[in-house]
Amino acid sequence: MNQNKLMPIVAQSISTGRGQRIAILTGGAVIASLFAVVAAFGTVPDAPLPLTTTPIEQLLSPKVESIPGGQAESAFMHEDRFQRGDTISSLLDRIGVDETETRRLLALPQVSAPLRALRPGTTVQAKTSEDGDLLGLWFLNADDRLVSIQPQGESFKTQEGAAAFSTDTAMKSGDIRSSLFSATDSAGIPDSVATQLADVFSGDVDFHRDLRKGDHFTVVYEMLSYQGRPVRPGRLLAAEFVNQQRVFRAVWFQDAGSKGGYYTPDGKSLRKAFLRSPLEFSRVTSGFSNRFHPILQQWRKHTGVDYGAPTGTHVRATGDGVVEFAGKQGGYGNVIVLKHSGGMTTWYAHLSAFAKGLRPGMRVGQSEIIGYVGQTGWATGPHLHYEFRVHNEFRNPLTLALPTAEPIGPGRLGAFKTATAGLAGQLDLLRETNLALLE
Ligand SMILES: [Zn+2]
Repeated sequence: MNQNKLMPIVAQSISTGRGQRIAILTGGAVIASLFAVVAAFGTVPDAPLPLTTTPIEQLLSPKVESIPGGQAESAFMHEDRFQRGDTISSLLDRIGVDETETRRLLALPQVSAPLRALRPGTTVQAKTSEDGDLLGLWFLNADDRLVSIQPQGESFKTQEGAAAFSTDTAMKSGDIRSSLFSATDSAGIPDSVATQLADVFSGDVDFHRDLRKGDHFTVVYEMLSYQGRPVRPGRLLAAEFVNQQRVFRAVWFQDAGSKGGYYTPDGKSLRKAFLRSPLEFSRVTSGFSNRFHPILQQWRKHTGVDYGAPTGTHVRATGDGVVEFAGKQGGYGNVIVLKHSGGMTTWYAHLSAFAKGLRPGMRVGQSEIIGYVGQTGWATGPHLHYEFRVHNEFRNPLTLALPTAEPIGPGRLGAFKTATAGLAGQLDLLRETNLALLE
């Protein structure tokens, strides 16, 4: 059914070029990103903030620096983390600002307001004089914008501007033992990357039901860094998921003017007309046992798939369609029926609530949240009962062959291969590394 499982595992020799590249990506990530930051400072023409003119090594290691311009006075660079339980005063004290100066600073609204918005865990860099006067303070705010607080005459001014991030590539692998999130946690993979991984393969794998112990995966993703420190993950660039011996692979591709999307390395779209699971995948649903089967067997021959999930869990439209029904219906309780092309309908039953404004005749898109898990109708616990019908005949959505989106056209295939060869190569390389580790 899926081409991926037919794809031979091509053993790829590790070329020197690629080997070096990987070495930089893993071992030298910090150094590489420092260079990237320095380079970015040099090339961003409207770099708005004074920080960009400060030599990077002075910001990264607190030490005495001489002030440019030949002044004899010494300045100290400090770096510290705003901790949970910290106050602004305790932070300023640790970075060497004296008490009188702290009082003066906190009396200035343009200084105290941004400092009060500091989130625990934020790294703060500061420059102070020998006497404990503040000569400058910098940090990234909740929107990843660079805030700088600096003396201006007798007072202080605060500025906010775009921060010069560098983008590194991170590669990680994991093994499924209990849930996807426990696997990504032990591999040190951020949650947003785990969610993207589940999304990318959501047309092929039902992450609520299909995962098995021994499944494994590899992800290649962007990591945005600021001054060599990871700030947050970006886009998933490539992934491999081995589910019950079936191999699924994805690479990100975007050409000029397109929205971009995920494809198999040979150019087939990973987007399917239907998602495998109507439940939004999250840390909560990932740990929820799906062995739970509360439906009264005498209701009738079981006609759908049950997903145990906490009340309120988001229920997504599995495919683009039109709302045919949204209301109460006997044992189904609150149920939504979506009508799709080709005589197909999908049914979502026992809901606690419908999405706001949902009504018959309305168009919904794939993945759109249409309702919330509940236990209305004949249900002994919160769960979603999901049905797939073709011309009103029940089909098993777990085994149904689903139509796929358009592949990369022949005219774009060359550009696609060129753009994604590196990513596909990284997946190959990581697979070989993993195999080598097993031997
Ligand atoms: Zn059911």
